[in-house]
Amino acid sequence: MHSDGQTASVLFERGDGLTYNDFIVLPGHIDFAATDVGLSTYITRRIALKNPICSSPMDTVTENKMAIGMALLGGIGIVHYNNTPEAQVEEVRKVKRFENGFITDPVVLGPKNAIADVDLIFQEQGFSGIPITEDGTIEGKLVGIVTNRDVDFEPDRSHLLEEVMVTDLVTAPEGVTLNEANKILRQSKKGKLPIINEKGCLVSLVSRTDLKKNRDFPEASKDESKQLRVGAAISTQQADRERLAGLVEAGVDLVVIDAAQGDSVFQVEMIEEIKKNYPAVDVLAGNVVTTNQCENLIDAGADGIRIGMGPGSICITQDTMAVGRAQATAVYQCARYCRTRGIPVVADGGINNTGALGKALALGANVGMMGSMFAGTQETPGDYFYKDGMRVKKYRGMASVEAMERGGGKRYMYSNRNIKVAQGVSGLVVDKGSAYDLVPYLVQSLRQSFQDMGHRTIEDLHLALENDGIRFERRSPSAQREGGVHGLMAYDEPFREGGRERQ
Ligand code: GDP
Ligand code: GDP
Ligand code: 5GP
Repeated sequence: MHSDGQTASVLFERGDGLTYNDFIVLPGHIDFAATDVGLSTYITRRIALKNPICSSPMDTVTENKMAIGMALLGGIGIVHYNNTPEAQVEEVRKVKRFENGFITDPVVLGPKNAIADVDLIFQEQGFSGIPITEDGTIEGKLVGIVTNRDVDFEPDRSHLLEEVMVTDLVTAPEGVTLNEANKILRQSKKGKLPIINEKGCLVSLVSRTDLKKNRDFPEASKDESKQLRVGAAISTQQADRERLAGLVEAGVDLVVIDAAQGDSVFQVEMIEEIKKNYPAVDVLAGNVVTTNQCENLIDAGADGIRIGMGPGSICITQDTMAVGRAQATAVYQCARYCRTRGIPVVADGGINNTGALGKALALGANVGMMGSMFAGTQETPGDYFYKDGMRVKKYRGMASVEAMERGGGKRYMYSNRNIKVAQGVSGLVVDKGSAYDLVPYLVQSLRQSFQDMGHRTIEDLHLALENDGIRFERRSPSAQREGGVHGLMAYDEPFREGGRERQ
């Protein structure tokens, strides 16, 4: 057996900080197809994902549209908190309501409501299949159902629902399994299946659209009730305890305590409080970059650890604070420790291509969190505009002056001070099209990266890392240049409209 390159422990033993760019993974032996690669992972102790990707809690990256896309495509999105608690809770609620097994709290109306009430629900919530109960309450006796087909062509929107509702209903009895309900729904060819108890009162609703969503997105990250998984960021400030209560009430799966330097008494207290008050919610704690910091947060009860201080594309922390760590070193050292405690790690920041994501996973990360990768897609908040002939969107650090003016400085413990020191910048990114195209592309490249490394699963890769079964090599500055595009005046890259100028 020849042994080219170095093991991870030798690569990092010199003690200087390495970035993803500073090294390369040597290829392994391929004895399987890229389609055999399975990328299942855990982001925290109890939350499994089919794909190791997560979108950053930033106000130019993740609100409900991005979080829905991420979860449908097998990852998870973390809704930012640079907004009011009510606005953040509403974003989470939209993700949780998007897909369902049994809809246990369906929106209902009564026979004396008007068609205009259905219009209003459609405008606000996006659906129009409304069960009609005798008294208009959820538990009321089911008397009919209204869908857009019943009201589409009615010019007078003040007509009462009792005049247009369908009363010849296909229903299923309480206690039916979701499998059986789905079968009845398919056979009935209807859009909705109301579930009723023996008194004829409404219990829940099953929607045909959800069967299609389940078929079209087989890798979706879902909870036990088939609702999409979603995370939300909070700070360690007192006021965010109320925010947290609302988020939990809305069904948030994962709380991310967002701090630039996560190893603080404030965070330890917050973790302990969440674990005590909401034991069903997983906590992703951070950000940290050293083993000691990981230990403190895990001892406090963290279910996952988020690693990164300064590697973000919009970040100037290391320049302004003198503190941080090169990201590859931080990921390797922290992941090695967290694995001994059975706690997953999220490599956060600096992942600007799939190569970097593959490297982060090869160093022990369980998931990659990305901001700039998804910035500029249609699913991010904000509008496109044109600059120098390019269609662009804003992408900004949460500690940029601009974001802090909207309240984003919470992550950096500054909100009570008058002087705000920026730890991030605000910039522009080109239109990348839809995340629904970008994410499958990322996942496919990652599968091929795993194939080249010679490992079928993330767990295999981590075992190889532990047993020195994966070899690395440092890259000299000229090797890094050689490894990138060179010698061209301009070139195109997928998902970077207009290509790049020579650098
Ligand atoms: P599967 O891998 O999607 O089949 O997941 P399960 O085995 O947990 O699914 C149990 C049943 O629920 C199957 O009949 C699925 O088709 C169905 N199912 C899965 N997701 C959804 C959903 O979002 N809505 C509805 N109505 N049914 C779903
Ligand atoms: P509709 O036929 O106009 O009701 O709309 P669709 O069937 O296209 O979409 C309904 C989608 O909204 C499904 O994915 C449901 O799971 C989801 N949804 C969430 N809450 C509710 C609710 O209270 N009522 C209805 N009808 N759908 C809901
Ligand atoms: P990217 O994927 O763009 O390289 O990095 C995104 C990550 O940068 C986020 O997940 C977050 O951890 C971090 N981040 C976001 N805003 C700021 C900021 O203003 N300053 C710093 N230091 N980091 C930021």
